[in-house]
Parts: sequence; C-alpha cells; structure tokens
Amino acid sequence: MKKIAVAGTGYVGLVAGVCFAEMGHQVTCVDIDQNKVELMRSGISPIYEADLQDLMVKNYQAGRLDYTTDYQVAYKDADAIFIGVGTPEQPDGSANLSYIATVARQIAESVEKDCLVVVKSTVPVGTNDKVDQFIQDFLVNDVRVEVASNPEFLAQGSAVHDTLYAERIIIGTESKWAEELLQDIYKPFNLPVVSVNRRSAEMIKYASNDFLALKISYMNDIANLCELVGADIQDVAKGMSFDERIGSKFLNAGIGFGGSCFPKDTKALDYLAKQNGYELKTVQATIDVNKAQKTMLYKKASRRLITFNGLKVAVLGLTFKPGTDDLREAASLENVPLLLEQGADIYAFDPVGADNFAKVHPEGQHGKGRITYVSNIEEALREANVCFIFTEWGEVKQLTPIMYKELMRTPLVYDGRNIYSVEEMEQAQVEYHSIGRKAVERQNMKESNGHELQSTRY
Ligand code: NAD
Repeated sequence: MKKIAVAGTGYVGLVAGVCFAEMGHQVTCVDIDQNKVELMRSGISPIYEADLQDLMVKNYQAGRLDYTTDYQVAYKDADAIFIGVGTPEQPDGSANLSYIATVARQIAESVEKDCLVVVKSTVPVGTNDKVDQFIQDFLVNDVRVEVASNPEFLAQGSAVHDTLYAERIIIGTESKWAEELLQDIYKPFNLPVVSVNRRSAEMIKYASNDFLALKISYMNDIANLCELVGADIQDVAKGMSFDERIGSKFLNAGIGFGGSCFPKDTKALDYLAKQNGYELKTVQATIDVNKAQKTMLYKKASRRLITFNGLKVAVLGLTFKPGTDDLREAASLENVPLLLEQGADIYAFDPVGADNFAKVHPEGQHGKGRITYVSNIEEALREANVCFIFTEWGEVKQLTPIMYKELMRTPLVYDGRNIYSVEEMEQAQVEYHSIGRKAVERQNMKESNGHELQSTRY
C-alpha cells in the first residue's frame, strides 16, 4: 500500500484517485476548487461517470480516500504525487502548461520526504524534463524527488472501467527506482505495463490519440465521398472492419470528434512538430477535416430550407458523446449559435448535458433565436420543423422512425450519428439526411398508394 496524492479532480485525477483507493492505496485528492472538494466530501461526484460515485462513497467510508484543498498536507509525506490537472489549448494550438507548473511549484515547496511525481496529464514531449528541473529549482527540503510520465488513456463515459481494466499502463521513467515504484503502485491492477523512457511515454499518448482522431477524420472524409458517388459508409466500414490490420473500432462516420482530448491533442502535436521544423501533414489533415465536418449538417440543412427563422428546431443531444456531461468541443456548441443567429426556435434535449449547456446558452431569447431545454424528447419533437441529432444517447436511439413522422410538423431529420437505417426512415416517410449515406429526399418519397407526398408544411 502506498500513500498517494493526486493533484486535480477532473476526469483523469478523480478517477485515478478513486481507482488507486479501490486497489488499496491511501489516497488524498487535491483540488483548488473548494466547492468541488466539499461536494466530494459529501459523497457527490462533480462529474458524471458510471460507477464513480459509488466507488467514491465506498472508499471514503473505508478511510482510504479523502479530498482537500490543502496541498501541503497532502503532498508533504506522499510516496507518489500524480498530476492530473488540465493542459488546455492556447490560441496558437500549443498546450497551456501553467496548471502543471503551479502544481510542480506547490510540490517543490511541500515535500518533506523522498517521492515520485507522476505526470498523468497529457503534455508535449519534453515537459517531464522541464517539470523535473522546475521542481529541483524550487525544492525547499533536502529530499529526493523524481519525475515520471504515466499518460492516461481512459475514455469519458467509461472512465472507471477503462482505468480498472486498462489495455495497457504506460510508464516513462529515467531511473530503476522510479520504474519499480510505479510498477508497485500498479501491481494490484494486474494489467500489462509498458515501460519506456519519459519522452517516449509522452509521445505514446499523443501518437495514440492523434491516430484515433486521424481514423475518425479519414472515415468522415471517405463518408463525404461516399455520398457523392453513391456508396454507403456503414457498408464500407463493415467491409473494412474484418481486416485485422484496420480493426473494427473508430470506423463510424459522423459530425466529427469533440471532447477535451482529440481536438487539443491534434493541435498540440501539430504545434510541436512545427516548433521542431517538421510539418505533420496527416495530423493537419485530421484537424481540417474535423473542422469542416462539425457543421456539415447545418450546411446541408441551410441549403434545403430557405430560412431557420421562426422554425421550431429539435436538437437531440448536446454533449460531445453519450455517457458524459462534458460539452468541450461538442458539435452542438458550433451548431446551436449558428441556428440561433438564424432565428431558430430551438428545443434542446440532453439527458445529462443540458444544465452545462444552459450555462453557455441560457434558456430564453438570443437575438432573433430562442432556446428552450426540455427533459422529454417528445416535447422537443412535437410540431418541430426540423430535427438535428448531435449525440447518440440511448434515449435518442430508442425513438422509432415513425415517432418522427407522427410528432414532427415536418418530418425532416439531420442525423449526425447515423443512428437510423435509411430504409426504415424511408418507410416511415421521414426525410432523412445522415453522414455518408443515401439521403431520403422528400420529393422522392411516395405515399403508400404511390402518389407523391404533398409539399412540406411550415
Ligand atoms: P479537468 O479540467 O476535468 O480537471 C482538472 C482539475 O484540476 C480541475 O478540477 C481543476 O480545478 C484542478 N486544478 C487546477 N489547478 C490545480 C492545482 N494547482 N492543484 C490541484 N488541482 C488543480 O481535466 P481532465 O479532463 O481530467 O484532464 C486532465 C489532463 O488529463 C489533461 O491533460 C487531459 O488532456 C488529460 N486526459 C484527459 C482525458 C479525458 O478524457 N478527460 C483522458 C486522458 C487524458
């Protein structure tokens, strides 16, 4: 059992801290946000992740887990201090390392015994070296402090599962002592460990994330071509998926990737390459395709409708993916302002992300447009003129095609997640536009008696 401190209680820090406690370590999670700390001490998770709150309560009650804003107390006698603070994107695309620097300084001023500082945050190659130097420069007591890299690969929405059953643990160290200490900490997890040097560990994280982002942008690029040449991206993906060299995951086309990682990590690696005089063309293409993809459906709908002004627009899903309340870089954040600007009367549904979205776009009038948050999908769809699907929540997937036909004033659906079968939407007489597949156009639809449908009601 080791005494562990974790700096930052976001998706990475909190989940890591809770899972270390679950494995028997003595953990103190540190955050600068007093409200968050109080919430966690009362047994409530500040983020939505399956199983997280239960494990928080269980380990807190067992005395293995605590939360504090008092970093000095948490860091002074820890065997290892994991850093899980944010490394957000800066305007030039580089990673903002100021939160990491603050924690490094706090550690240097607090530690009273030998300890290993472990950088879990995603940081550009070479950052661990700088953190190491920084700590040595500011170290107050005569103790041994080393720095190791241990990038995190969890996915939001399944963060606890991904941590307890990770496919691999990457540890990047520069000494046997650091390597053995980290191996020891991870021993109870019983997971494959890949041990490399610090710079390689830092690069593994970016190379992995950017490869996944590239896979998504590649499929979106192919999807756009599929539409033009009459192929179906889902059939194409299915055919590709049997090839083990390609793999079956991350082949779904859609309205682009979002979240707190892929967008910033692609930009940060591109920036790092440029700084080193290299042009990372594959990553640049990934970024460009994703940017265009996010508003693909809005552009399609704008061509189809004369105006959004005064139209009731149902927006299903606001978060960047299901299973999380995180909105960072979500497609909704790009599309909703465009719709509001055009005077749309938006009715938005999201099972967990609506409150966070309302902080950015409060309910009510916004210029010509208006946004209302509803907790019932049917309320969003009833008498709507058009519907956009931005997140494939289970609640949205459960809707049948016929419900769009029956509830909407005009059954016109733009599906950014390819939830429905084109044929079923056609049968239900829903005008349906998705990504990389045949569109079900109104003018081509026939009533069951073979007559063309009447024109759309507005
Ligand atoms: P987050 O923004 O959700 O959480 C960061 C937390 O750190 C906040 O609660 C903040 O209050 C706290 N903090 C800031 N300064 C602090 C300080 N001096 N001491 C203590 N706490 C402090 O961040 P996140 O999404 O958990 O991401 C953290 C890092 O992990 C980033 O580098 C990210 O790229 C990486 N990462 C994230 C994910 C993910 O899915 N979110 C996955 C893998 C890696």
